[in-house]
Amino acid sequence: IKERSLNFVEEIIEADLKSGKHNGRLLTRFPPEPNGYLHIGHAKSICLNFGLAQKYGGGTNLRFDDTNPVTEDTEYVDSIKNDLRWLGFNWTNEMYASDYFDQLFKYAKKLITKGLAYVDDSSAEEMATLKGTPNAPGVESPFRNRTVEENLNLFDGMANGDFAEGSRVLRAKIDMTSSNMLMRDPIIYRIKFAEHHRTGDKWCIYPMYDFAHGQSDSIEGITHSICTLEFVSHRELYDWFLEKLEIFPSKQYEFARLNLTYTVMSKRKLLQLVNEGHVTAWDDPRMPTISGMRRRGYTAKSIVDFCDRIGIQKRDNLIDVSLLEFFVREDLNKTSTRVMAVFDPLKVVITNLPDGVVEPCSLENNPEDPESGHRLVNFTKEIYIERGDFMKEPPAKYFRLSPGKMVRLKGAYIIQCDEVIENEGGSIKELRCSYIPSSKSGADESGIKVKGVIQWVSASEGLKSEIRIYDRLFKVEDPSSEEGDFKEYINENSLEIITAYVEPVLKDAKPGDRYQFMRNGYFVPDTDFSPENLVFNKTVGLKEGFKV
Ligand code: ATP
Ligand code: MG
Ligand code: MG
Repeated sequence: IKERSLNFVEEIIEADLKSGKHNGRLLTRFPPEPNGYLHIGHAKSICLNFGLAQKYGGGTNLRFDDTNPVTEDTEYVDSIKNDLRWLGFNWTNEMYASDYFDQLFKYAKKLITKGLAYVDDSSAEEMATLKGTPNAPGVESPFRNRTVEENLNLFDGMANGDFAEGSRVLRAKIDMTSSNMLMRDPIIYRIKFAEHHRTGDKWCIYPMYDFAHGQSDSIEGITHSICTLEFVSHRELYDWFLEKLEIFPSKQYEFARLNLTYTVMSKRKLLQLVNEGHVTAWDDPRMPTISGMRRRGYTAKSIVDFCDRIGIQKRDNLIDVSLLEFFVREDLNKTSTRVMAVFDPLKVVITNLPDGVVEPCSLENNPEDPESGHRLVNFTKEIYIERGDFMKEPPAKYFRLSPGKMVRLKGAYIIQCDEVIENEGGSIKELRCSYIPSSKSGADESGIKVKGVIQWVSASEGLKSEIRIYDRLFKVEDPSSEEGDFKEYINENSLEIITAYVEPVLKDAKPGDRYQFMRNGYFVPDTDFSPENLVFNKTVGLKEGFKV
């Protein structure tokens, strides 16, 4: 394997470690807002933050960025922790931005005391108008020059619930002429009479993201705070707060968000898909969520390998989902048990096998894994093969079954098609075949050479199973960049359900087991699976759509 070169964050960290900055200490954080389930974009951020800590002997805090009481919920907190563990990452500390509400309140007062923050009574519209445009400087608010005492009193009043929602805000006093709009006296606290999932009704004022994130980093002693590109313009403000508050100078670095083809990645949009019933839940196997991918049968390893492979960029980009599927297939090929399933059954009667006689055949569980052993599958008088593996009038070089021709049944015997039984109307009802007793796989003394090998399932012992086959959730590569609402581009045929016959061993499938249904793809028991009601999800097909 070729050593890859350092990415830009690694270069920064190596330089910092070399120069002795922070005494060689490295602490990153992963800061999800608990307002939805984690998606594959988060996985990229997780692999980056935890990966850096692992590589350089540091730590990573899991911090719930829970400063917006309205959209957040403990259901999301629990799912995020579960997904992180499943991906294989252990956090150093579990933190909540809401635990810093007292400290942040004091920081706000410190700014007021330093003459760097003021209570503004302007309406949202007035503030927006006075803010100006990127090309025209803003105008200072008439409330900008309140005294420190007056500001402290009003801010306490805000916290006490003396004022109505929207009537007042606390703003940082920076520069209404800055070319960076975020520096034009940003709002740092607003009144919100909302119940918070952790602090209940203790607070009726909540800090804005920009007044919480950098300070939380600083309180925790985060050395490298890595976020996505839309925060580039926030960095100036991030640094300003830490400098004016005279607290630990965490540093923010930005990389490009991950976007994947044929899906959307914003939690707001994913929530719409769930709430409006376009998918069944956050963990619907068509969702780009970690829980959806897990239910679909993707492995943690394949997701981590994918994130490592795509690396990090400074420009936004759209990654082909087939690259992710490539890593899924790579991992599953090594680890899945091979079994036989027939999706579109055609009955075959073995005329020379007496009724009630079974011939146990030994099949390899996984040729990629010598430890995986063998299992016995009974060859019986009636079996199913795929309808597509038989042709009445085959073209030249057709190596599967046709009248008078032979094919090998995987792990069992060579059979010859002696007779085709048709329904009225000409469709094929069943085949009458004879098997060659001396041709058993592994002990073949028949001397007959056949090119085709097909899978089969005993009609008397095989089990009926529901198979859920998924297609892309959207019809276009980048639904978010298309005209109109992204939901106009939903693929209405993204789920196909069929009934298949599968080997009896699949009755004992357990959550997390991975199977290759020979010649059909990779499959995993769904969360709806039970021994009485077999349900499998198709994870990915066998064919490689992408070469690396
Ligand atoms: P969304 O738009 O989905 O709500 P978000 O950035 O608001 O995304 P957070 O829960 O705040 O979601 O994200 C937690 C961390 O994951 C942040 O550091 C964020 O930058 C990162 N992250 C989120 N989405 C992506 C993505 N598509 N690619 C890379 N990192 C991401
Ligand atoms: Mg966020
Ligand atoms: Mg968000």
